[in-house]
Amino acid sequence: MAKPEVLFILSVDTEEEWDWSGPFPNSDFSVDNAKELPAFQNFCQELGIKPTYLVDYAIANDPYAVSILTGFNQNECEIGAHLHPWANPPFFNETSEFTSHVVNLPIEHVEQKLAALVEKIKENFQLTPNSFRTGRWGINGEVIKLLEKYNISVDSSAYPLYVNKYFSCEQAPCKPYWPALTDTNLSGQQKAVLEIPVTTGFNRSATQLCQAIHKACEHKPLSWLRLNGLLWHSLLLRKLYLSPELCTSSDMIRLVKTQLQQKQQVFHMFMHSSTLVERVTGLNNEPHARELLCQRIKDVIHYMQQYVTIKFCTLSEAQTHLIERGMTK
Ligand SMILES: [Zn+2]
Repeated sequence: MAKPEVLFILSVDTEEEWDWSGPFPNSDFSVDNAKELPAFQNFCQELGIKPTYLVDYAIANDPYAVSILTGFNQNECEIGAHLHPWANPPFFNETSEFTSHVVNLPIEHVEQKLAALVEKIKENFQLTPNSFRTGRWGINGEVIKLLEKYNISVDSSAYPLYVNKYFSCEQAPCKPYWPALTDTNLSGQQKAVLEIPVTTGFNRSATQLCQAIHKACEHKPLSWLRLNGLLWHSLLLRKLYLSPELCTSSDMIRLVKTQLQQKQQVFHMFMHSSTLVERVTGLNNEPHARELLCQRIKDVIHYMQQYVTIKFCTLSEAQTHLIERGMTK
């Protein structure tokens, strides 16, 4: 019997590196991590992966980073846009935790920043980006309308199951959908911007039920917190991410296994270019960071290929495929 086909996307927030536990950088952005990208792109091509590099202003404005990315075979990857409010002119105020989130900014500020980013990408990459992600996640109807205005038709700012004090993606679908302008966690009428969320979930089926249990555990006193840890360590319930910087090979494989049982047809892995270098962001402190991430990606792909035929896509290729096949909701 033929194996079922699934789509596999890898999106890379391609951006400056800094210590994520410290303040947001406002100038003199370091993009040394770009030097890891050629080896990473080669690795991806060998496996068949077609990465989507969502570049922020610091990258798009850096001649060295631009020369590396424009040197890649453009049929083997995609250049999209990534908006970091703190690194993207025009600047209005010093960036705080609040203003680091695109959804918290006045929409006029978002528009000016997005216009500058799109312009810089056009100037230095000779293309108009079609795919997008906000820095630090989160999306709303106003930003979706702006994306449409700037001819961006794929968004990937929804982070299913994630919630912080400013916004919630907890209810966002884990499958591609047309976000409603009134509530981007729901499918709506507009068909200009498709949301292709990253893959997150649990190591168990019945995701919604798991989420409820997990949430209850989070919000109860210490004994419940301990229970949450116990659930994690005992493998009873783990919130997992298809990201080689957040999860080990075995945890990503657990997630993939559950998603395959749920007949998931789109697998969207995500990471940052800056974690290709060890000890710069605080997230990847293991030596040989790039090799470690690549090994984890390879483990996941090899696992998946036992059960499904993988069609590797960039974000825009996935969008075309999904629309043609009527696979959006
Ligand atoms: Zn970012």
